[in-house]
Parts: sequence; C-alpha cells; structure tokens
Amino acid sequence: MSATTLIRQAAVFDGTRLLSRRDVLISDAEIVAVGSDLPVPADATVIDGTGRTLLPGLIDAHTHTTSVGQLRQALVFGVTTELCMGGDAATSRRVRAVAQTRDDVADLRIATVGATAPGGHPGQLVEIGLLAPFPTVAGPEYADAFVAQRIAEGADHLKIFIEDGTVIGHAMPTLSSETIIALVEAAHARGLRTAAHTWTRSAAQQAIACGVDVLAHAPSDGHSDQELVEAAAAAGKFVVPTMTTLAGMSLTPVEFELAEDPRLRPYADPDWLSALEHVRTTEPAQRVGPIAVQAMHGADAAVRMFRLGVPLLVGTDATGGADHPTTHGISYHGELALLVRAGLTPAQALTAATSTAATAFALEDRGRIAQGLRADLLLVRGNPVEDITALRDIDTIWRRGVRVDRRATLSAAELVRS
Ligand SMILES: [Zn+2]
Repeated sequence: MSATTLIRQAAVFDGTRLLSRRDVLISDAEIVAVGSDLPVPADATVIDGTGRTLLPGLIDAHTHTTSVGQLRQALVFGVTTELCMGGDAATSRRVRAVAQTRDDVADLRIATVGATAPGGHPGQLVEIGLLAPFPTVAGPEYADAFVAQRIAEGADHLKIFIEDGTVIGHAMPTLSSETIIALVEAAHARGLRTAAHTWTRSAAQQAIACGVDVLAHAPSDGHSDQELVEAAAAAGKFVVPTMTTLAGMSLTPVEFELAEDPRLRPYADPDWLSALEHVRTTEPAQRVGPIAVQAMHGADAAVRMFRLGVPLLVGTDATGGADHPTTHGISYHGELALLVRAGLTPAQALTAATSTAATAFALEDRGRIAQGLRADLLLVRGNPVEDITALRDIDTIWRRGVRVDRRATLSAAELVRS
C-alpha cells in the first residue's frame, strides 16, 4: 500500500480558518505539502476531496481514559488525541504505550495522579473502594517532590483538584493557595502544563489567582459575576466547558440525540448503546433536574469568558462508567453541538477542537494542517463551518498518515489485553 496520499480539491479548515479548494499531500506520518494544484506523485493514492472538508484530527482536552477500547471509540469518531485528566498511573501508562505503537486507536497524553490535599477529593472514592489509595500533597514544601514523582511515573501534564465538596454536599479539605502556586511553579519549571478541576466559582477564582494554565471545567455552581469572567480573561487562561458531562446528568443527555443520528450510530459501542437505552427507559425519574440550571450557568460563564478573549477547549470528561451517558468519541460531537448552541460559531468551535487545544497543551506537532505536522486528519462530507453536524458525516480518518478502517472491530483478545 502506498504511503503517499494526495487529497485534492477539498475545502481545508487549517485549525483556524477555512481555505477553499486546496490539495494536501501526506507522506508516511506527515503532511508534506499544502497548496493549489499540487503535482501528483507517481506512487500516490489520490482522494477526490470535492464537496468535502479536511480538518485536523480532533483533540479531546478532558477525558479519563482507562482502556484501549476507549481510544478506539475516540478515533472512529474523529478524535485523534485524548488528554487524560487523571487516573491510575500504571493503567494510564499502559494505555498510552499501546497508542504509541498502533494507529487504529487515538493518541493519549496522561496526567497520572492529580494533586489533592490529604483527605481531599477524590479521596472519598478510596474510602468506598472505588479508587486505590494515592499520594497527596500536605503543603507547599511537598509540591516539587510530588511533581517530580508524577514525571517519574510518566505524566505529560499536571492535574490539580480544587474541590471543597460543597456541590456534592460532602465537605472536604482542599489545597491551600500556597500549595497550588508551588505545584504550578514546580510543573512549569519541569516543562509541564497544569489543569485544575474547577466546578465552582471559588475554585475557578483560586485556579486563576494561582496561575493554573487550564480550567478543566467552566464554573457552574451559580451565576459567574463579571469580576470572575474578567479575571479569567486578564490572566489568559484556557477553559474546557465540559458541557456534555453536566447535560449527561440532566433529564436530557445530548447522547440521546447522538445515538439516533444515522451518521454516528453505526460506529457506536454496542455496550454503550444498550447502557444508554437502559438510562433512557429506566432512569428519567431519578435523573437530576437542577443540573440543567448548573449547565446553563456553566455555558453562560464559558461563553462570556470567550467573548472577552478566553480560549475555549473541547472536552467531554468521558470516563469508562456505564452509569453516565458521556463517553469517548461520540460525546465529543455532542460537546461541539452544545458549544454552538451556547453561542460559538462552528468555526470557533472547530478552532477550540484543534489548534487551541494543541496550543494549550504545547502539542506542537498537531492541531493544524500545515507542512511538517502530523497527518492526523479528518475528511468529512459537506461543510462543518456552516453546519457543525457535518463533522458527523465522516468520509475518512487518518492517524499518523494511516487510513483508519472505521468498520474494523478490535478483537476481544486485544481489548482484554488492553
Ligand atoms: Zn474529569
């Protein structure tokens, strides 16, 4: 099979804007040329891009990835990179190692263990046996050693929990601002970006004041006042609204609609589809109505920050649980729809999904279509800059220049092993 591919006459969304009728040449894992009427190399596979749009592979800026099967689901929906915001170090490392050696799953960057105070969130999950015990940070003097340990266990970025438990009705100790500042300094000194878990306005405020790079949620525990919105903009922080995960707890998860979309459904994990059906038919009465109000506050804060210049990222907060509708890959299309519904243009949402995410996490080899970058690419029918849902109508996905067979299923053995 030829390792050279020429995509001709496609509209190209290059990570920030739409260019009409361009040719893009891929050789092995790299984009080697972008132009008009490029010569056709003798050994090239030629793809007619007429009526189609070529985009950089999508980046999910907030996941909790625990299996290769999840990375497979991400990739078949066009997500070529997942940024895991915390999990067991050995599991994270093992899944990332698999992603480095094969091209039929999405790539992965990992946080390993997030920083929290002794007894802090998510330590309550250790108490009930859902999480294995993990190291914590007792004060600023322990920050440097904590970050060094995360790097030693393979972390690509640092996750910091800012969660006092008020929203979940279970008060918990939190990191002091001095400790968060020390963690951010230690991470930056060692070349790591930092992201903080920030569901509340006070958490967002503290993350901004302490110099954290990325707010991994939009604050949603009430109306964000103008002071907070302006502080986020002045500090130049990135925000991942994660609207789909709040919607997933509400009476109307966006996934109900995604699962019915004939452009998406054939590629969805059958186990997820049946878990979703279970949610739809048995749980509506138990689902949380007030979450819809939180979702509204989160969306409002994110869009007001965006209007003042805060770059937004697209993240699902997908986990592996069957009890929550938000999942890897397909839910990303829901997050994009929610961002557009909240007021972003499709082009702004696509920029958030690609080049902004790459900038936020210093992934210099991806997130744009340009010579020399990785050939993580997505060819879709129609124009997602006019209609964001055109992104669901996927023609071809390339990961590192390798064309993805979306219909292939990973063998049970592969999934068990991974
Ligand atoms: Zn998360």
